[in-house]
Amino acid sequence: MSLADDLATLRASARDRLSAATSADAVEALRHELLGRSGELTVLLRALGTAPEAERPALGRAANEVRGEIEATINGRLETLRGADLERRLSDEALDMSAPGRAVRMGHLHPVMTLMRDLREIFHAYGFEVYEGPEIETDEYNFELLNIPPDHPARDLWDTLYVAEPGSVEAGDPRPAEDGTILRTHTSPVQVRAMRALDLPIRVITPGRCFRYEAVDASHGFEFHQIEGLVIDHDTSLADLKGMLEEIARALYGRDTRTRFRPGYYPFTEPSVAFDVTCLVCGGPGCAACGRTGWMTILGAGMVHPEVIRSGGFDPDEVQGYAFGLGPDRMTMLRHGIGDIRLFFSADLRFVTQFAEGR
Ligand SMILES: [Zn+2]
Repeated sequence: MSLADDLATLRASARDRLSAATSADAVEALRHELLGRSGELTVLLRALGTAPEAERPALGRAANEVRGEIEATINGRLETLRGADLERRLSDEALDMSAPGRAVRMGHLHPVMTLMRDLREIFHAYGFEVYEGPEIETDEYNFELLNIPPDHPARDLWDTLYVAEPGSVEAGDPRPAEDGTILRTHTSPVQVRAMRALDLPIRVITPGRCFRYEAVDASHGFEFHQIEGLVIDHDTSLADLKGMLEEIARALYGRDTRTRFRPGYYPFTEPSVAFDVTCLVCGGPGCAACGRTGWMTILGAGMVHPEVIRSGGFDPDEVQGYAFGLGPDRMTMLRHGIGDIRLFFSADLRFVTQFAEGR
C-alpha cells in the first residue's frame, strides 16, 4: 500500500472513531492516539521521508489536509460533548428538589451614599427636589457664569482637571480642550443650570461628584462629593438662609446642636458665610478633632451673587436666593470616625462591608 492510501485510510478511520466517541475524555484520548508524539498521523509523516522525492510535496499537502480535518473534527466534537455535559448537569440539578438553597449575596450602599441618601430625605422634608448636572462641564458653567471670569484670581481656589483636546495626547502634546471642557470642580454650575431650566420658586439640591487636581492625602482626594443647595424666589433673605441651615443642622445632629455664622468668601455668593456647628466629637469643650475650638465647619453658604442671578436669566432686583454646599465625604468620616478619606475610593471590600448592617 502506498503512503497516499495509508493517509486516506487514516482519514476515514479518524472520522468514524471521533464520531463514535461519547465523551470529551474519549475525544481527548483519540487526539493523543492520532496526533500525539507517536500518534498514527505522526508515524505516517515520518515515513514521508522514504517516499520518492517527486511525490513528497503532494503527499505533504495531503498529510497537512488530513491533520487539519482531524483537528477541526476534534474541536467540533469537544464543543458538542461539553455542551451536552453541561446541559445534563444543569437538568440533574434542576431535578434535585432536596438540594439546599444557595444564599444570594446582596450588595449594599457605600457609607458616603448612605449619608447622601439620609441628607436627601432631610432636604425632601423641607421641600427640596433633587436636580442633577453633568460631571464633565464647560469652563463657562463651572467658572464664568458663576462670576469667575478668566484670569480672575479666585480661579486659584480651584485646581482644575482639564479634558484634553482630542488627539493631543496621542500626538504626545497633551493640552486642554479648546472648547473649555473640564471636570467640574464643584456642584455650583448646577445653580445656573437649575435657574435656566426651572420656574420660580426654585428649591433644589444637587448631590454629585466633583474633581480637583489635588495632592491626595488623608483629608484630600482628587475626587470627592458635594451636595449643593439652591433656593431662588422673590424676597429671599439671609434670615431665610440662617433659619434653613439651623433646621438642617438640628435634623442632622440633634435639637441641642448650636450653630454660628462666620464670614466667608466665594465669588458666586455675596455675602458669603462659613456655617459651624458645635463639635460633633467633644460637644463644645474642645478636642483634637475641632482644633480645640469646640466648633466644626460643616458647610459654606451665602446669598446668590447678583451676577449669578443674571447668568440664570433673572433680574437680581426682582428675585434673590441663597446657596450652600455640603461635604458628604467629611460628614461621613465624622459620622463613623473614619480617619482617612482615601479609604472611600480604595475599592477594599474589608472597608466597605463594615457598613453593610441594615442597608
Ligand atoms: Zn471637639
